[in-house]
Amino acid sequence: MLFPPTDSRIVARRTEIVAALKAIVPDGVVADKSGLSTFDTDAFSAYHQMPLVCVLPSNREQVSAILKYAQGEGVPIVPRGAGTSLSGGALPREDGILIGMGRMKRILEIDYENGCLVVEPGVTNLNITKAVEASGFYYAPDPSSQVACTIGGNVAENSGGLHCLKYGLTTNNLLGVTMVLPGGEIVTLGGKAGCQGGLDLLGLVTGSEGLLGVVVEVIVKMLRKPPVTRTLLASFNSVPAAGQCVAAIIGDGVVPAAMEFMDRRCAEAVEAYNQPGYPAGAEAILIMDADGVEADVSDAVSRITDIVARCGGVTVEATDEKQRTRIWSGRKAAFAAMGRLAPDMICMDGTIPRHALPQVLDEMAKLSEQYGLGFCNVFHAGDGNLHPLIIFDMMKPGEFDKAEAFGADILRLCVKVGGVLTGEHGVGVEKRDLMTDMFTAEDLAQQGRVKCAFDAQGLFNPGKVFPTLSACVEQGHVHVHGAQLPHPHLPRY
Ligand SMILES: Cc1cc2nc3c(=O)[nH]c(=O)nc-3n(C[C@H](O)[C@H](O)[C@H](O)COP(=O)(O)OP(=O)(O)OC[C@H]3O[C@@H](n4cnc5c(N)ncnc54)[C@H](O)[C@@H]3O)c2cc1C
Repeated sequence: MLFPPTDSRIVARRTEIVAALKAIVPDGVVADKSGLSTFDTDAFSAYHQMPLVCVLPSNREQVSAILKYAQGEGVPIVPRGAGTSLSGGALPREDGILIGMGRMKRILEIDYENGCLVVEPGVTNLNITKAVEASGFYYAPDPSSQVACTIGGNVAENSGGLHCLKYGLTTNNLLGVTMVLPGGEIVTLGGKAGCQGGLDLLGLVTGSEGLLGVVVEVIVKMLRKPPVTRTLLASFNSVPAAGQCVAAIIGDGVVPAAMEFMDRRCAEAVEAYNQPGYPAGAEAILIMDADGVEADVSDAVSRITDIVARCGGVTVEATDEKQRTRIWSGRKAAFAAMGRLAPDMICMDGTIPRHALPQVLDEMAKLSEQYGLGFCNVFHAGDGNLHPLIIFDMMKPGEFDKAEAFGADILRLCVKVGGVLTGEHGVGVEKRDLMTDMFTAEDLAQQGRVKCAFDAQGLFNPGKVFPTLSACVEQGHVHVHGAQLPHPHLPRY
C-alpha cells in the first residue's frame, strides 16, 4: 500500500510547531510520547503511526487559528473524532498535526419547532438521542459504535447504522454544517431549513472523510419515536434461503426499520459472548424491526412472517422490551464477539444490489477456502451493505497480507456485481488502492479537482481515499506522491 512520504523537514521543526500550537491552545497540546501513543491508530488497528503532535481545540476560533498556521507552514492536518473509523481515516502522520475534536462536545440548541438540534462535532451519536429522548424524540442514524463515535466523524464518513434502511444515513438526517476550511475561513453550509438551491456543498462535505476541512458545528434532524416497534427473529437452515427472503420482503414493498443478517458462525460466537437467545443450529438468522403506527406494524409483521415461512424459515417475535433489547444486544456485540474466534479481525464494508446477495455469499465462501482464512457474515441486509469479518492471527507470518488480499477480493466482487466499495465505513487507507477498480482515471481526476478546490496544497488528510493526488499537479499545485504506508504494528517515532 502507498502512503505519501513523511516530510523530514517538518519532523525536524517539531519543537517549533508544538510551541506555536501551545500559543493557540495553551491547555490542549499533547506532545509527549506516552500521550501521543493513545492516538497512534483508529479502529482499523492493523496500522499504527504516532502523530507529530496532537492538538485538542475547544472552540472554532482555535480550530481556525490552527488551520491558518498549518497552511502557512505547509504542515499536514489529520482530523479525528473518537477514532472508531474502520477504514483508517483517522490514522495520523509522522509529519502531521492530529486535530482531535473530542473537547467540542456541547449540545448548543434543541429546537423542537424546527425539529432539529445544533451540536458541536465531538458530541457522541448516542448523546444526541439522549438529549431529546425524554421528550419522545431521537436521532435516527445509529452506528453500532454510537456510544463512542462523534457526529463530526459521522458526517465525515456519512455513517449508517441498523435503522438506516428506513431512515437513511447521516446525509439524509443532516441539515447543515459549519466547517473551517484549510486556510482558516469559517463557512456554513445549509442551516435549520437544510440546503436551499445552488450547489449541494453540504452533500459534498458529507462523506468527505476529513479531506476538505474540519467540521465545527452540525445541525441534525430529530424524529419523533415511533409509537410501536416490534422485533422479529427469523432463522433459516441455509444462507441462500435467508438471502432470498431479504429480496422477497423488499420486493413485497415492506420496509422494515432494520433488517440484519448473521450467518451461523457469527450467531454462535455472539451467543457464546452475551447469550442473546439466538436459535441453535440455524445456518442464518435475520433480525428485523417493524415500526410505525399499530395498523402498519401489524400488517408488516404478518407479511414478513408469511414471506419467511415461504422461504423455509421460522419467525419468533420478541414478547417484550427486555427481549427486544436482548436480541439486538447480540447484533451490536457482533464485532466484540469475534474476538473469541481469532486474535485479529478485519471488518470489510461493501455494498451490493440486493438481488446479488445469494451469489456474493456463495462466492465469498469460495474465497474463504481459497485463502484458508475463516470469516463470518454480519450485515445490514435490507440495503445490501455487507460487513464480512475476516479472522486471522497477526502473529502468524503472512496471515495479515492474506487477510488484506481476501478483503480486497471481496470488495472487487462487490464492484463486479454492480455494487460499490463502501456502504458506510469510508475508503480511508483501507480501500484507497481499490479506487481504481471502481473509478476510471477521469473519474478520479475529477474527484481530485474537487479536493484541490478546497485544499490546493493537499495538506488535509493526505494519503487517504485517493491513490494519488495528481489532479493537484495538473492544476499547478503541490504534488503528493506515493511511498510505503507505516508497517502494521510497527509504531514509528
Ligand atoms: C465496533 C464498531 C462498530 C461500528 N459500526 C458502524 C455502523 O454500524 N455504521 C457505520 O457507519 N460505522 C460504523 N463504525 C465505524 C465508525 O464508528 C464510523 O465511521 C464513525 O462515524 C467514526 O466516527 P469517529 O468520531 O470515531 O471518527 P474518527 O474515526 O475519529 O474519524 C473518521 C473520519 O472522519 C474524519 N473526521 C472526524 N471528525 C471530523 C471533523 N470534525 N471534521 C472533519 N473530519 C472529521 C477523520 O479525519 C476520519 O477521516 C463502527 C466502528 C466500530 C469500531
